[in-house]
Amino acid sequence: MTLPLSHPALQATDPELAALVGAEERLQADTLRLIPSENYVSDAVLEASGTVLQNKYSEGYPGRRYYEGQQQIDRVETLAVQRAKAVFGVEHANVQPYSGSPANLAAYLAFAEPGDTVLGMALPMGGHLTHGWGVSATGRWFRGVQYGVRPGTGLTDLDEVRDLALKERPKIIFCGGTAVPRTIDFAAFGEIAREAGAVLVADIAHIAGLVAGGAHPSPVPHADVISTTTHKTLRGPRGAMLMSRTAHAKALDKAVFPGLQGGPHNHTTAAIAVALHEAATPAFRSYAHAVVANAKALADALLARGFDLVSGGTDNHLVLIDLTSKDVPGKTAAKALDRAGIVVNHNTVPFDPRKPFDPSGIRIGTPSLTSRGLGTDRMPLVAEWIDRGVRAAGEGDEEALATIRTEVAELMAAHPAPGLPVG
Ligand SMILES: *Cc1c(COP(=O)(O)O)cnc(C)c1O
Repeated sequence: MTLPLSHPALQATDPELAALVGAEERLQADTLRLIPSENYVSDAVLEASGTVLQNKYSEGYPGRRYYEGQQQIDRVETLAVQRAKAVFGVEHANVQPYSGSPANLAAYLAFAEPGDTVLGMALPMGGHLTHGWGVSATGRWFRGVQYGVRPGTGLTDLDEVRDLALKERPKIIFCGGTAVPRTIDFAAFGEIAREAGAVLVADIAHIAGLVAGGAHPSPVPHADVISTTTHKTLRGPRGAMLMSRTAHAKALDKAVFPGLQGGPHNHTTAAIAVALHEAATPAFRSYAHAVVANAKALADALLARGFDLVSGGTDNHLVLIDLTSKDVPGKTAAKALDRAGIVVNHNTVPFDPRKPFDPSGIRIGTPSLTSRGLGTDRMPLVAEWIDRGVRAAGEGDEEALATIRTEVAELMAAHPAPGLPVG
């Protein structure tokens, strides 16, 4: 294996670290990445992330900083904010949260006091840790009440959400999650939140790119606050944003800084601005729709091979496979698929009888493969690989896994991604 000399200074200063980066580049190039929260950023986003904006301290907001020398930084952040407002059609945007989890914590700080009740989707049902789950600070410092999905359909139980909201009177209601394969009914959540007097936070971390590209309904105007990461389907750098109407702007800004954070990561802000510039293009719109078309085609091909899918399919980028009927535990399948060059994660399925560290499901998604130019015509092949891989996992057939790995690497070599070695 020859390592690419794409980072000459790193190579010269720290060959040990350079080798690790080179090996990671090789791994990303050769494998089929099906983790629904991952993606490949563009060359432009990569470049913006690696600029000298890294060197600057900028506590505060454009025009109101605690350090001098902000002539260009103010412009960069203002550009990112303007683009976020235009892409999502919101009145206010804060682009400073370091990541999705601190963005959500800022929403708590803005609208609740410790001990207050918050309502969110339970983690094993598809929610996120930061929506009030017990092991998270949000579940320890606040009183987390959790909703789930219906046993038969796997769909969010909106009757349960409404009953809990009216009974528990939460300060904040979260909608959105990490393993939700279906469209989120923001209008229904908005109505429930208004009825209960709660602030509705739409956490669109997973689907922000689909919303930006018109491939999923927008939470505007139903949600009071929109929280999102920038690195999942939005295809930007690792970071996050909080968006709202003007009425909530001050509370959110104060919560992010000085409430929770110090200096913003200006190189990340710059890369967010670039990603939003890309998200406003027709090409990105096509991308977002292709992500969904690929997920639907992949779901159909998996169903045809006898896989059970939570909710029976998908409306978005994500497919949640329940492997119970295949008699292979999720972690065993995920580890075997990894050896076959197919990168997924094990995941709980709703009402999972198995333990969270070795659950019944695997979670897959199409953002990354779509970024590499794979279309719906390839999804039957991807489903075939998953099928063969899961079967090989059950039979302990390492040779079959190695064969799949070779086939995967061959296809991926024909579909390069920015920043990765070719061939
Ligand atoms: C990914 C995600 C987060 C957290 O983002 P990090 O950047 O990993 O902290 C929060 N909420 C949801 C719904 C997510 O999918």
